[in-house]
Amino acid sequence: AKAFGKSQLALYSDALQEEANQRLNLENALSEALAQRQFELFYQPIVQVSAGRSQVVGVEALLRWWQGTRLVSPDEFIPVLEESGEIVEVGEWVLQQACTQVRQWHQQGLAGLRCSVNLSSRQLQEQGFANRVAQILRETGLPPSSLVLEITESLLMRDVPDTLAALRELESMGIRIALDDFGTGFSSLGYLHRYPLHIIKVDKSFITKAPDDERLKAISRAIIGLGRGLDMDVIAEGIETPEQMDFLHNEGCNFVQGYWFSRPQSALDIYPILEQLSNQ
Ligand code: C2E
Ligand code: CA
Ligand code: CA
Ligand code: CA
Repeated sequence: AKAFGKSQLALYSDALQEEANQRLNLENALSEALAQRQFELFYQPIVQVSAGRSQVVGVEALLRWWQGTRLVSPDEFIPVLEESGEIVEVGEWVLQQACTQVRQWHQQGLAGLRCSVNLSSRQLQEQGFANRVAQILRETGLPPSSLVLEITESLLMRDVPDTLAALRELESMGIRIALDDFGTGFSSLGYLHRYPLHIIKVDKSFITKAPDDERLKAISRAIIGLGRGLDMDVIAEGIETPEQMDFLHNEGCNFVQGYWFSRPQSALDIYPILEQLSNQ
């Protein structure tokens, strides 16, 4: 602080004040967003590739926030919702909305389509979370076997005793659990053994440069092998190019997701793409 002249200090505290104001505005706007129907779910296809055929097997629901005509990215607002605790309510809305939508697609001919929903640790820590999920499945008519809940390593890292119980309860209902962003957190392979997990999602940071980086290739290869050895499905995220497709296919990774197939889009816009990807 010594190095600051008086005017610089004033500037500095102005900047801090400005930041605090912006944060407060964001929080206030967000706490209205659910009631104002400013949230929308986008969907991105998850595709199974085998013997040159691509077949959509599911969709991942991704939350969007319309602030006027501006589409705000979840990386900007999910952390704020997590901090305020509002993620519990918003997360429940997401689950309810996604299950309703996918059930509707089942009835429109996309039978068996899976619905992947991202969970925050706060949600899983809520008392009675599994019961609430069961209730949403009953209300929407989506079969439990069509629901995938995506959790991250950081959620498991907290090692709350109830987390294991909640995951076991969800598993016993027939719901599948995916470990998202695998390899980016403070991973411990022990998690794969200790928790009921059915799917590994290879983080896109490994995939993006994989085809021309031998070390990243080796990492992706090892994760794919690990998943297979544990009898888990492995989904590679962030596929943007045919080279990445080829690489993963050669490594025996059959499930992929990325802009190469489709960007996340609104329910209305994604439906024709899902239909197309189900008839190939
Ligand atoms: P995520 O779960 O890892 O989701 C994948 C992200 O990668 C999405 O970003 C998706 O749009 C993006 N993506 C998909 N394919 C490609 C590709 O080929 N290239 C590149 N560069 N990116 C691709 P998005 O939609 O911005 O979401 C960011 C994160 O926000 C998600 O990461 C997830 O952690 C969180 N999130 C989104 N929706 C929800 C939600 O409903 N609940 C919670 N708790 N978190 C959510
Ligand atoms: Ca995810
Ligand atoms: Ca991910
Ligand atoms: Ca992520």
